[in-house]
Amino acid sequence: MQKALVKARDQVVLNPDDLPGSWYNILADLPGDFPRPKDPDEGPSRLEFLSKVLLKHCLQQETSTDKWISIPGDVQDLYRQAGRPRPLYRARRLEKYLKTPARLYYKREDLSPTGSHKVNTALAQAYYAAEEGLVGVSTETGAGQWGTALAYATSLQGLKCVIFWVRSVYDWKPDRRALMRLYGGEVFASPSSETSVGRDLLQKNADQAGSLGIAVSEGLEYAERSPGYAYCLGSVLNHVLIHQSIIGLETMKQFDLIDEKPDIMIGCLGGGSNFGGFILPFAGEVVKGKRECRFLAAQSSSAPNLSKGEYRYDYGDHAEKTPLLKMFTLGHQTEMTPIKADGLRYHAAAPLISYLKHLGHVEAVAYPDDERDVFEAAKTFVQVEGFLPAPESAYAIRAAIDQALECKRRKLEKVIAFNVSGHGFLDLPAYREKLKF
Ligand SMILES: *Cc1c(COP(=O)(O)O)cnc(C)c1O
Repeated sequence: MQKALVKARDQVVLNPDDLPGSWYNILADLPGDFPRPKDPDEGPSRLEFLSKVLLKHCLQQETSTDKWISIPGDVQDLYRQAGRPRPLYRARRLEKYLKTPARLYYKREDLSPTGSHKVNTALAQAYYAAEEGLVGVSTETGAGQWGTALAYATSLQGLKCVIFWVRSVYDWKPDRRALMRLYGGEVFASPSSETSVGRDLLQKNADQAGSLGIAVSEGLEYAERSPGYAYCLGSVLNHVLIHQSIIGLETMKQFDLIDEKPDIMIGCLGGGSNFGGFILPFAGEVVKGKRECRFLAAQSSSAPNLSKGEYRYDYGDHAEKTPLLKMFTLGHQTEMTPIKADGLRYHAAAPLISYLKHLGHVEAVAYPDDERDVFEAAKTFVQVEGFLPAPESAYAIRAAIDQALECKRRKLEKVIAFNVSGHGFLDLPAYREKLKF
């Protein structure tokens, strides 16, 4: 194997050959009993239902306790074609601007073809869907990043993709809608009249803003009634976090190359897939006492699932079609104020992240839902580092800046690593509105 490159002094770049060959599954390393999904006492079996609509490969990974799950060669090729491994940058200009003694690093998931880390699981899921001989897949999307990633990945496999998109976001992102359709995706504003769940909600309130929980219910119903279709999820479930571990595995190699160890790792968190993907390989070592590192999830006070939620069994969707999952949750039918970083507006955090929080390994901070501080942080980042983050990623940047300023007050030379989960080129209307341009 060729040696990886450390290009310039501020970028750690891996060769295509250094792409990890397996995903990491933290279930193998977790202490105690990780709470499994279960059925409610009454009604039909949700576990059986889910096993009918999910992809077989994903279902199997969902309960796997194998520490390493090998990435199919074709998926590795797709990852490389999509630009993996992705670089880790030192934020030297940001450090200077903040006058902090901390060293800041960020992982560039914004370099993805559709704009976010979601392609890491979309490429795997679409590949498995083709392997399983399906016609197409259905799904939900919040910010629109997951819908775009899946439309892209299914298009490469020649499969159909049906997307239920939270209406409040569908309405203000016509360009992202166009991109999904350009990839051949069929897109509906959710709640929609395509499903009985959607029709019921529209009858009660024709102006329903929608939610991820509702869109999940619609996507599930669509897959259930459409032969040759499976339902794909973009966050929350174990198999999604397993696929996303590619982010953290690369990051770990990159830190090893430069002999640095992060003291704190930060990501934004809606359902937990980019945060999980970034931290889980490191957290696996922390739970075994082999490494010290803090993990901080940045969220919105519109959906403070980790910060304010209760750790209990709850449904993953509005219509109670999913099994009960043990999560930090605000309640599956809670109404949450729409925000510009709508990808963070989900009622619960992934069971794996919730369990780590419960064990005391994950911290969370929630920023006010006017989002002013967050967009100001994004503006600083654009002006000193030059890259336009997705509004969701701006939460991680806000938290990283806050940590760097804390280091300045306390004169600490900590290493702070944060994940830039996506770019914001299709979110400029949000920037215009929030920063009054
Ligand atoms: C979907 C999304 C998020 C939030 O989802 P997680 O599963 O919590 O990662 C964050 N950032 C971007 C760019 C997204 O597309």
